[in-house]
This record gives sequence, structure tokens and C-alpha cells, in this order.
Amino acid sequence: MEVLKFTFGPFSENTYVLVDQKTKECIVVDPGMYDSSERAYFTSVLESKELKPTLLLNTHCHIDHVMGNAFIHDQFGLSPQTHVKAIEMLERADLAAKLYGLNYDLSPAAHTTLEEGKNISFNSHELEVLFTPGHSPGHVVFFNKTEGYLIGGDVLFKGSVGRVDLPGSVPADLVKSIQNKVYLLPEETIIYSGHGPETTIGVEKKTNPLVSEHNSIL
Ligand SMILES: [Zn+2]
Ligand SMILES: [Zn+2]
Repeated sequence: MEVLKFTFGPFSENTYVLVDQKTKECIVVDPGMYDSSERAYFTSVLESKELKPTLLLNTHCHIDHVMGNAFIHDQFGLSPQTHVKAIEMLERADLAAKLYGLNYDLSPAAHTTLEEGKNISFNSHELEVLFTPGHSPGHVVFFNKTEGYLIGGDVLFKGSVGRVDLPGSVPADLVKSIQNKVYLLPEETIIYSGHGPETTIGVEKKTNPLVSEHNSIL
């Protein structure tokens, strides 16, 4: 599946679209389009490629990752799927928006929950779900084993990790999620993070200044 990357909104959040080239159906992960120009841009890119979103996933439900849920629902009739421990945050995303002084269209409720061990089948493709709490209590990442990439949300960034000073963050859990789950994936796996550029498991294991393979300063 081809990975399309968009960077949207006041938090420069990465929205990913995973495309099944055969059917042109696609998965939207963490839609963060914020204003009408970002929405129009997203629509124009999808239309130019004749893509049809048929699945909406949230790695976690911080406001920057769910801002576009309502838009995706309106445009394509999709409701989000996320981890059960993220539901409360999804339901309270309007409060977070108020806190930051942001406009926010209420997300539809999550109709299906995601859990580790239950893979997501998408046409002929398969995404493994890994439960990776720490930055946020209900955080999951999506591993495409066949194609060697991880849609990683806010767990691990190039040279950094997800914030652990937010309500619900548990630094020790994030370290465990990274060292005991993410870093066990093949070294050449590309990580598409929720913020910033791509990196690989191998590079971060060796060079990440906050959580390396065996050490952490969190
Ligand atoms: Zn986050
Ligand atoms: Zn984020």
C-alpha cells in the first residue's frame, strides 16, 4: 500500500492515507485537517488520484489526531476505529479543543475498537495492531509487515519520542512500549510518525537520545 503523507493543523500533525493501488480504496489514519483550505487540499489530492477512503483509524485521540474525524465522516461516511482506552479522550476532545482555543467539529463515536492481536484486514493487505501506551493511555500503532513500515502515531519520532507531560501520560509505559514492542520490529522498518519526518527502527535504536535500545532518560 502506497503511503501518502499530509501535514496539517496548528500542531503540524501528519495525516496518512494508505492506498490499495488495485482497488483505489484507502485507509485514512489520524485525519488532522483543520481549516477549509486544508480540507479542500485533501479532497483535491484524493480526487486527482481517484481514491476512495473506506476505513478511518485513530492511533490515539489527542485533539490534533482527531480534528478531521468529522470531516472524513461527512465526506465518506466513515466512523473512527480506535483503542477502547482512547474512547474517553475521543469523547472529551471538544474540551481539549476549548483549552487550546481551537475550532472543532465533534467526532462521530468510535463504532469498533482496536486491540493488539487483532489484525486489520484491508482487501489483500494486513496491518498488525500493537498496543503502545505511555504518551497516551489508549495508543496503538499499525505495522505493515509485508511492506516493512509502521504507522507510529506519537510514540517515537526521528530523534525524539512522544510527550510524556500530558494528562494520562506515563513515561515508564512509553519506554516499555518503545523498547519491548516497537524496537523488536525489523531494523529496516520505516516509521511514519505523527509529527516530523520518517525514520527507521534501526536508526532510532542506535541514535535516539531519549530512548535507545537499552537506555532511557525519561
Ligand atoms: Zn498525541
Ligand atoms: Zn500528535
